[in-house]
Amino acid sequence: MVNMYYEADVNKEALRGKTIAIIGYGSQGHAQAQNLRDSGHQVIVGLRPGKSWDQAVKDGFQVVTVAEAASRADVVQILMPDERQAQVYRDEIASNLKAGATLCFSHGFNIHFGQIVPPADVDVIMVAPKSPGHLVRRVFQEGFGVPGLIAVHQDASGKAKETALAYASGIGCTKAGVIETTFREETETDLFGEQAVLCGGVSELVKAGFDTLVEAGYKPEIAYFECLHELKLIVDLMYEGGLARMRYSISDTAEYGDYSTGRRIITEETRKEMKKVLAEIQDGTFARNWILENQANRPAFNARRRLEAEHGIEQVGAKLRSMMSWLNNETKKEEAKVGQ
Ligand code: NDP
Ligand code: MG
Ligand code: MG
Repeated sequence: MVNMYYEADVNKEALRGKTIAIIGYGSQGHAQAQNLRDSGHQVIVGLRPGKSWDQAVKDGFQVVTVAEAASRADVVQILMPDERQAQVYRDEIASNLKAGATLCFSHGFNIHFGQIVPPADVDVIMVAPKSPGHLVRRVFQEGFGVPGLIAVHQDASGKAKETALAYASGIGCTKAGVIETTFREETETDLFGEQAVLCGGVSELVKAGFDTLVEAGYKPEIAYFECLHELKLIVDLMYEGGLARMRYSISDTAEYGDYSTGRRIITEETRKEMKKVLAEIQDGTFARNWILENQANRPAFNARRRLEAEHGIEQVGAKLRSMMSWLNNETKKEEAKVGQ
C-alpha cells in the first residue's frame, strides 16, 4: 500500500519562521506562492524583470532577483519551466544557497536526469500538486485542496519529509491527501502518462478518428463533434466514477461497441510500443533528446507545432467553437490571437 498523508500528519512547526522563495511566477508559481501566504508563511518571489515580475508585485509580493531570493530563503521552490531550470540553477541559485537550505521541485525531471546536482548539505524534496496551477489556487480559495505527491531525494537535515509535508499543507494538498513517491517514480510515470495516454495518445487517436471520417466523405463539422468535442463528456464521467460510471451512462449499443472494438484500436502492437516508450523514458533517451532539442533552439518542436496547427481538425474546431457561447472568453481571445 502507498503512504497517504493528511492534515493530521503535518508538523506545522516545520516551516515556522522560515522564508520560502518561489522561483518563477507562472502556472504553479502564482498558485503556490499565494496559497502559502494565505496559510501564514513568509514568501518572497524570485524572478527576472518582465511580465511575471510585474504580476507578482501587483499581487502584493516582495519580488527580487533569483540570486537574491535564493540567498535569503530557507526553502527554495523552483517553479520555472523544466527546460530552463538547470541553467538558472547553475548561474543564479547554486552559489547562493544557504547551507542547510531546502531545495524543492514540483516535477522530478532535472534531479532524476542529473541536470541539477545539489550540494550534499541541502535537503532536496518534491511537492507536486496533481493539478494545473489555476486549480491549485481556485480549489484552495474554495477551502479545499488538490491531491499532491511528495518525495525526498536528499535528507541532509533528517527532517526533509517533515518539511515536504508542511509545504504540501501550505498549498492545500494535505486536505485532499498526499501520496509519498520517489523522484524516479514521479518523473517516469509523469512522462509516460503524458506521452502515451494523456497528450500523445489522445491527440493521435482524435486526429486518426477525425481523418478516417473526413476521408470517407463525412462532414468535418460532424467528425469534429464525434471525435473531439464529445471526448470531454466521456472523460468527465470517467473522472467522476471510473470506466464503470462512463459505461453506465452511455447506451448499451455504445457499451457493446466499446467492448468489441476497443482492442482492435489499441492492439497488442500498441501495447508493445508503449513498453518501448517507457523503456526510452527509463534509459534517458527521451530526456537526452528533449535536452538536446532545447540546446538546438527547438527546430523539430517548432516545426511540429506549426504542422499540428495546420491540421484540418484545428481549422474546423476554431470555427465551431466560436459559436459555442458557453466556452470561456479567455479561450476564445487566445484563439483569436493565434489566428491573427
Ligand atoms: P511556467 O511555464 O508557468 O513558468 C513560467 C515562469 O517561470 C514565469 O514566471 C517565468 O517568468 C519564469 N521564468 C522563466 N525563465 C526564467 C528565468 N530565466 N529566470 C527567472 N524566471 C524565469 O511553469 P509551470 O508552472 O507550468 O511549471 C513549473 C514547474 O511545475 C515545472 O517543474 C512543472 O513540471 C511543474 N508542474 C507544472 C504543472 C502545471 O500545471 N503547469 C503541474 C504540476 C507540476 P517570465 O515571465 O519572466 O518568463
Ligand atoms: Mg509533465
Ligand atoms: Mg455518438
